[in-house]
Amino acid sequence: MFVQVPRGTKDILPQEIRSWQDIERKSRDLFSVYNYQEIRTPIFENLALFKRSLGDTTEIVKKQMFVFKQGKDQFALRPEVTASIARAYLENNLDFGVKLRKLFYIGPMFRAERPQKGRLRQFHHIGVEAIGSSNPSLDIEVIELADSLLKVLGISNYKFQINSLGCHKDKENFGVLLKKSLSRHKKELCLDCQIRFSKNIFRVLDCKNEKCKKVVDTLDFGSDHLCRSCREQFELVLEGLNNFAINYEIKKQLVRGLDYYSGVVFEVTHPALGSQDALGAGGRYDYLFKELADKEIGAVGFAFGQERLMLASPKEEIPERLQTYIIPLGQEAAKKGLEFSRSIRKAGISCDFDYSDGSLKSKLKEANKLGAEFVVIIGEDEIGKGRAILKYMRQNKQEEVEFNKIVDYIKTLTSKAV
Ligand code: AMP
Repeated sequence: MFVQVPRGTKDILPQEIRSWQDIERKSRDLFSVYNYQEIRTPIFENLALFKRSLGDTTEIVKKQMFVFKQGKDQFALRPEVTASIARAYLENNLDFGVKLRKLFYIGPMFRAERPQKGRLRQFHHIGVEAIGSSNPSLDIEVIELADSLLKVLGISNYKFQINSLGCHKDKENFGVLLKKSLSRHKKELCLDCQIRFSKNIFRVLDCKNEKCKKVVDTLDFGSDHLCRSCREQFELVLEGLNNFAINYEIKKQLVRGLDYYSGVVFEVTHPALGSQDALGAGGRYDYLFKELADKEIGAVGFAFGQERLMLASPKEEIPERLQTYIIPLGQEAAKKGLEFSRSIRKAGISCDFDYSDGSLKSKLKEANKLGAEFVVIIGEDEIGKGRAILKYMRQNKQEEVEFNKIVDYIKTLTSKAV
């Protein structure tokens, strides 16, 4: 039997790749304007890294990691990359030199989830991490960058939901408040959440079970968990977002699915995405570095799902474009044609060659499908005359050009077309 692609994964085919590259190029360009540099970390890490940083009781660590063993070592395919970047930052002493490291990444992530529309087992993140500062202005920059990215990609109608978990102490207070308001509803929660209730109460807030979601949505626990300084910081961030006219709402139930978050957290939703409506999310994670290396380092970042960005962005037909196509008719012509294609390519002009056996008509059809702008036809007659037929595919006209002039001629034509 034919072995198919694993469920929850996808081939990205040549006809789609231009849209992928387009989003990646626009993201890279924007990140570089904000002075973020690219970082690439391995696709897999030691399992312990994710357990330590994401938290033992999180959905991702408990249920969604692809784990494998090699000898005595246990590894996991990365379910997200913040933990890997924090590790790389510490391991490569990126805290020396510049005070603030602004990093971006684009790449595949892996989660062993039940595949469904909008939820894959291999998907792609586009994100940033700004490491080395706890200044709330940096939170504003990162959220404003997320907003700019969506605008650059032509996406509208999205909404930011925002909350502040506060510092360690505040997060503990938050947990107490949450426990108090949830205790009345404990019996309505799913079995997993009943365990989470005592083990890690925050994880109840990101449970995907509809019943639990309903309970969580009706909870009201105010923002009383925040200390003065965290409250002021949160207000500063909100003021910054107001100044930039960023469309947000405060969502007190928002905690994000990972333990390492503290301070301001946010999520971006989009109505076009249906039940999986999160386009991306982020926030502050000042305690991750404490957890990994007992260091006090402030950091904030976000990640967007690339597939979801593509679903929410306007569909743009990006046509195939090939500048020249060589059609040789016979062995002698093929020799000449190969010479031409080599010289044309050397000049940086895209060129392809017809290797098929069919008629001239079918060869021209192929040139059309490839989006060729000019076709060079060389037959026996042309060999005799030392001239090739140059066909202008967009104008339905043709002319004869001498062999020794054809490459320069195409160079002139294509430079005019640019
Ligand atoms: P998260 O780290 O779960 O907040 O993920 C950030 C973003 O990645 C989400 O808002 C989604 O856009 C995307 N994402 C997360 N999990 C998946 C998945 N299984 N399939 C497709 N996209 C995903």
